[in-house]
Amino acid sequence: MERQTIQNQKILSYVASVTSHPTAEEVFLAVVKEVPTITRATVYRNLHKLVAQGELSQFSLHDQLHFDAIVEPHIHIIDEQGVIVDELDSALMRTLFDSLKQKGIEPTHVDIICRVGAKGGMKK
Ligand SMILES: [Zn+2]
Repeated sequence: MERQTIQNQKILSYVASVTSHPTAEEVFLAVVKEVPTITRATVYRNLHKLVAQGELSQFSLHDQLHFDAIVEPHIHIIDEQGVIVDELDSALMRTLFDSLKQKGIEPTHVDIICRVGAKGGMKK
C-alpha cells in the first residue's frame, strides 16, 4: 500500500474516531480545524482515494455520500432523524447475510430504516 500522507492520516483517523458516518463536507469541517491549510478539494479527493484503497467504505443515503471506517459488510440501522448505528457481528447480521447469500446477493451494506414514532430517535 502506498504511503499515507499526513493529510490522509488526519482524514482516516477522523472518520475512524466518530460513529456518525460523516459526509465529505463534515469530514472537511472537522479536519480543517486541525490542518487549516487543507482544501475542500483535497479532502474530497483523498476520501475517494481512501475508498479506492479499501481503507474506508462509502454509501449513499438520502442523496448524500457517507464515509465509514468499517470496511467489512455490516448493517446500518437508521432512524427517521438520520442517525446511523452500526450492527456488526451479531446474530441478526449473520442470519440476514446468510439468507441474502442463499439468494445470490452479497451486499457490502444493508440499511434498515427504524421507525421509532414520535418518541424520539436513537442515541448517537
Ligand atoms: Zn457503518
